[in-house]
Amino acid sequence: MKNYIKHHPWHIIEEGFDPELNRVSESIFSIGNGKFGQRANFEEKYNGDTLSGNYVAGVYYPDKTRVGWWKNGYPEYFAKVLNAPNWMRLNIRIDGFSLDLSRCEVHEFSRTLDMQKGILQRSFTATMQNGITITASIERFCSLHNSHQAAFRYSFSLDKDADLRVSSYIDGNIHNEDSNYNKKFWKGIKSKAHKNSSLLITETKKTAFQVAVQTYTSISKSDKNITFSERKVKSKSTKITSDFKAKKDQQIVIDKRATILSSLDFEKEDLETAAREKCRKNCLRDFDELKNEHIQAWAAKWEESDIIIEGDVAAQQAVRFNIFQLNCTYTGEDARLNIGPKGFTGEKYGGSTYWDTEAYCLPFYQATADPEVARNLLIYRHKHLQKAIENAEKLGFSCGAALYPMVTMNGEECHNEWEITFEEIHRNGAIAYAIFDYINYTGDKQYLAEYGLEVLIGIARFWAQRVNWSEDRQQYVMLGVTGPNEFENNVNNNWYTNKIAAWCLDYCRESLDWVKENAPKDYNRILEIATFNPSESTKWAEISQKMYYPFSDEHGVFLQQDGFLDKELIPVKDLPETQRPIVEHWSWDKILRSCYIKQADTLQGLYFFEDEFSEEEHRKHYNFYEPLTVHESSLSPCVHSILAAKLGDKKRAYEFYLRTSRLDLDDYNNDTRDGLHITSMAGTWMSIVKGFAGMRVQDGEMTFKHFLPENWESFSFKIRFRDELKQITVDKKGLEIN
Ligand code: BGC
Repeated sequence: MKNYIKHHPWHIIEEGFDPELNRVSESIFSIGNGKFGQRANFEEKYNGDTLSGNYVAGVYYPDKTRVGWWKNGYPEYFAKVLNAPNWMRLNIRIDGFSLDLSRCEVHEFSRTLDMQKGILQRSFTATMQNGITITASIERFCSLHNSHQAAFRYSFSLDKDADLRVSSYIDGNIHNEDSNYNKKFWKGIKSKAHKNSSLLITETKKTAFQVAVQTYTSISKSDKNITFSERKVKSKSTKITSDFKAKKDQQIVIDKRATILSSLDFEKEDLETAAREKCRKNCLRDFDELKNEHIQAWAAKWEESDIIIEGDVAAQQAVRFNIFQLNCTYTGEDARLNIGPKGFTGEKYGGSTYWDTEAYCLPFYQATADPEVARNLLIYRHKHLQKAIENAEKLGFSCGAALYPMVTMNGEECHNEWEITFEEIHRNGAIAYAIFDYINYTGDKQYLAEYGLEVLIGIARFWAQRVNWSEDRQQYVMLGVTGPNEFENNVNNNWYTNKIAAWCLDYCRESLDWVKENAPKDYNRILEIATFNPSESTKWAEISQKMYYPFSDEHGVFLQQDGFLDKELIPVKDLPETQRPIVEHWSWDKILRSCYIKQADTLQGLYFFEDEFSEEEHRKHYNFYEPLTVHESSLSPCVHSILAAKLGDKKRAYEFYLRTSRLDLDDYNNDTRDGLHITSMAGTWMSIVKGFAGMRVQDGEMTFKHFLPENWESFSFKIRFRDELKQITVDKKGLEIN
């Protein structure tokens, strides 16, 4: 855990330069606009420890799978959203020395992310090896107003007269640190430089996505423009250079604007013209004008998605940070895009889609954005239905059974650990649950007829084939699975998986009835597409009724899986701190044999299906499982916070909230350097809205059961609900809805 980010309601602030923390800060200060995003790398050269990162949504490469023991059914590749050409690069040479903070004496340094305005700011004073001191201040943004645009303004002055050589690059010689075979994924297509402009078009190998980056750089000295005298282009880079003299204290301003387009949005043959035209329009405009448009767009986002907390700056900063990053990652106009667990902030998890989207992220977008946004997240899976059917076929299922991938970009499975790829099948349930959740929240039942039912049929068919009848128990069982708790593999009858499977079968049957009655044309269309015979659902009803659920009479709880009570149940509090996180200290077999739970598993089921359980049952399960949970997945604390709030355990609810919300700001898990935990950020929002405010939607009505954390004066948030924007305020007097 770290504690170097200064508390402030709207700003994330780092003061002083510690190269050891650079990768962590590069993650924390990341910015994006849904179309592309970047880590907070420096514009100028930096030879210290850094993970350079620029990512364009939906542009991925199928990196050849690397495994020790190949198993039938493994995917051939892992799709990675690629580290893309870097539009920002600058080289500032001062009297023959390149500015590089890793080689300077840095006197003052601060980095601020102004979340309200969406602006990344940096300022520093540093003395170079040649004794010249530079004072600089930089502002940068990825425009939320114009999702193809990014810009920075780099202003500086020197303490002596000096010769300057400034080069502005587009760098396409980019590699992914996590490349399996150390391959480069980009090839150059076109590079050009003319006056202040540069263009680089690169293409991903194999997938042939093209990305065009057009930049316009201007340099001014005491408000007078300086021309570029040298231009160099290579197949994967461009560079324009200017040599000039600067006087002591003279203000030098470098403005760089970029237009970033991809072949997802433009025909390849039109990319160059489109990039040039868009960039030309932007470069004719003043930096402040572009910046203000962007600030206005953020103001509109905040208007609907802000949560205001009075009386606790650390909590306020944290929730805004989470909301900010969620809005940087996904804006929801394009149903081909989804939410990677690290968004645009790092390479881990490859930018691909996990069950995180449905289980954790959907409620946030549902309540804070246009209903289209959440709908697009669902349509994404509808688009992938055929691939999910093929995926199931590869594993031996048939007749339209669909198994959605654990990890995907285009609908094909990318994950390659047998215990997860083949066994962590509960993900299918989350996809069905999201359809229910969306309809319950928005009332958009028509979604079932348009898209949802087809997906539900594929999923129900899968479960019906995945269970088997146990003669011994005279019940249906599900063998060889991994539940959400990945610290157990290949278990039989994971309660959560059995539960969600049975629920899917029931929900699909209900949905069939609804569509048959309310949208008969769609019903017939779907029956035909899916070659569905209504008698299939009779079997589903039987499976659901006769599903086996492991239960302990002694403890009065459902058991996470068969045999769970054979384990030595030693609470986490008795584990020495030196052995935590266990995933870093223990061998895998020791973890598997232990009782320790990585993240909510049985409790995830209680969270989803809470209406089926009494408060007493909730309490018993929470008291049994939470003490055994190590929360080594970022997705864990939020579900526990919501459950603790429901049970009136305010202290624990608050502790879990802080842990989930400041996970990256305080680097709880010591892994922020790899990127931010974007999907768990939606859990932070849920901890407040569903936890502290206790918001639920029942029979088309919003209900609340609130409490106010002790050290808070009040909290309030806005949510969209059925065409209305409601403001919910909780303070010492109670809860008010406006
Ligand atoms: C969690 C999974 C999650 C994945 C991506 C893993 O550590 O156990 O539930 O889908 O991270 O966030």
